[in-house]
Amino acid sequence: MHFPSTRYRIASPESLGSRGLMEIPTKRFLLVICALALASLPPSSSHNAEAGSGIRTDSSVLHQPSNDQATKPCVPDDFRMAVDVGHTIEASGALSARGVTEYSFNLKLAQRIEEALRRAGYMHTYIIVTRGTGRAQLTQRSARANSLKTDLFLSVHHDDVQPIYYEKWTHNGGAYHFSDRFSGYSLFVSYRNQFPTESLDFAKLLGAELTSRGMKFSSHHSESIPGERRQLLDPERGVYRYDQLTVLKNTKAPAVLLEAGIIVNREEELVLSSSDRQQLISAAVLAATNQFCGGNRPSQKLQKH
Ligand SMILES: [Zn+2]
Repeated sequence: MHFPSTRYRIASPESLGSRGLMEIPTKRFLLVICALALASLPPSSSHNAEAGSGIRTDSSVLHQPSNDQATKPCVPDDFRMAVDVGHTIEASGALSARGVTEYSFNLKLAQRIEEALRRAGYMHTYIIVTRGTGRAQLTQRSARANSLKTDLFLSVHHDDVQPIYYEKWTHNGGAYHFSDRFSGYSLFVSYRNQFPTESLDFAKLLGAELTSRGMKFSSHHSESIPGERRQLLDPERGVYRYDQLTVLKNTKAPAVLLEAGIIVNREEELVLSSSDRQQLISAAVLAATNQFCGGNRPSQKLQKH
């Protein structure tokens, strides 16, 4: 696949304040479906990793549960976090059952996550928004996160299903496709990231926080059909392995991609549109970040037992 080149003007995080990064495009186009849009061309390689409940205080120092000797005080103001908004205005990812772009879902949720993190004292939280199409807007995400020297990278997406499952319906006079077959969130990590164990640690922590709030994960990415067949690393918390995801493998920090839910599912689209669900997911991200920042690493617990 060939991706058109794109030029960017990058504003400094300081000049944009809490909004972090904006990138302005000069070319357009290409629509690719959701996480598949993030897959790069070369094939994969290989490698290899539990959770607890989050705590939140208004203190500048968070102390984590003491049953893990690796636990250390978390200083949110010293922790640098990137919240990546999946896709762009020009290549907006999946289309919901009611014709809303994935990008708009991603942007709103990422902003809610950023707000929750900043309210909790994570003042070095940066939203990454790119513009344009193709490979360039993908590589720029990791480049921005790397230049910010972030400690953790979370890419925010909303999910689709394979086209074989699409059905047709009309909504408000418009013709759209949908599939109510699957629902739920998914988490992805790449073992080609420099920190595969830490990436899996954060994915497990986040998956545990989402499930503890009543959310279910979707197993459709492990189906044995073209386009799926992802290895399910954690069948309790919905963590998949996807080595080729560009944003995960090129980021020089632990990195996780969150599919917050399936927007081609007509009922789940409405849930994902709600402020309640966005706040729930934001709270889960904050709780998982508190634990990760505090050294609560599921992989270290496993090694001890
Ligand atoms: Zn996506």
